[in-house]
Amino acid sequence: MRNAGVSAFAGTREPIHRAMAENQISTLSGSIRAGLLCACPRCGKGKLFQGFLTLRPRCDVCGLDYGFADSGDGPAVFIMFFAGAIVVGAALITEALYSPPYWVHAVLWLPLIFILTLGPLRPMKGLMIALQYHHKAAESRFGGDRT
Ligand SMILES: [Zn+2]
Repeated sequence: MRNAGVSAFAGTREPIHRAMAENQISTLSGSIRAGLLCACPRCGKGKLFQGFLTLRPRCDVCGLDYGFADSGDGPAVFIMFFAGAIVVGAALITEALYSPPYWVHAVLWLPLIFILTLGPLRPMKGLMIALQYHHKAAESRFGGDRT
């Protein structure tokens, strides 16, 4: 009975890894869902971020090391195209239809720019990391076997 606590502590890593293998995400739709929810790309349960855009070192649930994850400028570029098209289109339509003074444009579009750019940044970064993990994407390396 005295060893029950010790053996339970010593055996904590094994059940985690067994559970990890059983609950691994294998489908593309599962990976997309986990990414949009900012969850671990392998188990879909652990959290991905510790700050607004700062990644945790590893998954709390399955132990996946997030060191592979490097989405770079990808999320920001997609969001810029998306938000730019919406805001510029809406501003052009508003100008063509109503010709409001410039301060109306500033009041309308500046908050919309913040909402459309900062809002989807985390899910988009999570999505790109999940897709990177799903497709096992990595930077190409020179050299390798042909030395
Ligand atoms: Zn995980």
